[in-house]
Amino acid sequence: MKAAVLRGPETIKTEIVDDPVVPDDGIVIRVKACGICGSDLHVYKAGEDVGTIFGHEFSGDVAEVGKNVSGIEVGERVTAVGFRPCGKCFWCLRGKFHRCSNMELTGYQLPGAMAEYVSIPTAIPGRTVFTLPDTMTYEDGATVEPLSVSLFSIRRAPIKETDTVAVLGLGVIGLNAILVLKSMGVSRILTSGRRPPRLEAAETCGADLVVDAAKEDGLAAIMEATGGLGVDCVVECAGSPDTFDQAVEMVKGGGSVLLVGVFEKPLTWDPQKVLAKNISLIGCLGGNFPGAIKLISSGQANTRPFVTHRFSLDEAAEAFRVQHKDLSAIKVMIIP
Ligand SMILES: [Zn+2]
Ligand SMILES: [Zn+2]
Repeated sequence: MKAAVLRGPETIKTEIVDDPVVPDDGIVIRVKACGICGSDLHVYKAGEDVGTIFGHEFSGDVAEVGKNVSGIEVGERVTAVGFRPCGKCFWCLRGKFHRCSNMELTGYQLPGAMAEYVSIPTAIPGRTVFTLPDTMTYEDGATVEPLSVSLFSIRRAPIKETDTVAVLGLGVIGLNAILVLKSMGVSRILTSGRRPPRLEAAETCGADLVVDAAKEDGLAAIMEATGGLGVDCVVECAGSPDTFDQAVEMVKGGGSVLLVGVFEKPLTWDPQKVLAKNISLIGCLGGNFPGAIKLISSGQANTRPFVTHRFSLDEAAEAFRVQHKDLSAIKVMIIP
């Protein structure tokens, strides 16, 4: 089959690789749409993990079902989460495989969905494999994973309808965070980000304030918008030292900061402010697929405007270049 393979720093080549063999406990999916994730770009830029086939935001048709799997039929339209636990760590030995500390992930250590077919090592309906309602397109299906991350993260904070919430960083995770907050009826959503199409998308999603951080100081603008009071919760989706400091600065005493963005480097920061203000710093890594599918299929979250570019598998190198460098890109999809 064809697959897009990492061959060095910022180098993707479309190659012919072996077809996946269906695992006894898993399935093989014929990929119909696969998004490029910001996390993929970190690995793409470094280019060290040569041979990686990216792709963890995808959907497709079930092509083959392993002999130990029940409740999943060939031809079903699905999205899925792929991982293989080590079976040996503290958590695995206690049966909590989803917490495994040496987990291999589809799209990183295991071959991902930027290919004609992808293998899911453990297929459990409703746990790792999720049926798409008829109203959802394959592209909608490929937007479930990033929305599931934003939903999972926001549910970790005690956010009320009357709260004012800031979203820092307007990549797809930040934009999805706005959709989730809107669906919860949160009264005021203040945001800061960069790149014009993402700022426009934040407005379309219903943000009450959109600060262009390339031109204006996000902290000052958000403090001004709250009359100097600050916000109840900050959703940090940028993963930069500046936005981390801003988050700690702008959150009210007793408020919470959700750490969602991926930090490329360790931070140097002063914990004094966090303890003096009784701030809760909450780490977020996880996804809520069923909740995200419900949000999209009920019309409460429209992720379609985020898909700005589409490429074939043969054009995967260009797809990555656009996602990385083109200022007009929000989410680039590969349609194998
Ligand atoms: Zn992702
Ligand atoms: Zn383990």
